[in-house]
Amino acid sequence: MYSTAPIDSTGPDYTNAVARVLTTLTATALLTQLQAIELRFGRTRPYRNAPRTLDLDLLLFGDETINLPELTVPHPRMHERAFVLRPLADLAPDLVLPQGPILDLLAACSDQPIQRLASR
Ligand code: AMP
Repeated sequence: MYSTAPIDSTGPDYTNAVARVLTTLTATALLTQLQAIELRFGRTRPYRNAPRTLDLDLLLFGDETINLPELTVPHPRMHERAFVLRPLADLAPDLVLPQGPILDLLAACSDQPIQRLASR
């Protein structure tokens, strides 16, 4: 888990993590489940970029490219965010995104402060 200051928003620092899951759900059904979990944790959207209690994004779905009105995969902004790339690189250091190898993309985000939280 990693701590970062909000980007384009206000409020306390965020805790960021990436998980790899096995699922029999379709990508859109998985997104629906992620949004249901956000709601269960009390997420509201009072205004654009408001501070969030929980934000669950679908970064990748195997090697699929998805362009639906409600779902874009790979996630369209993941390649420029250290708070996504750093924990994702821990899981998959050899991953290559459409924009390039993950470690190269992470190096290009070196201006974004990110702090590893102690593991338990
Ligand atoms: P946010 O929770 O503010 O990051 O944005 C959620 C909105 O982005 C929802 O309306 C989703 O339908 C849409 N969306 C598009 N692609 C994705 C994705 N890969 N992961 C999560 N939400 C997505």
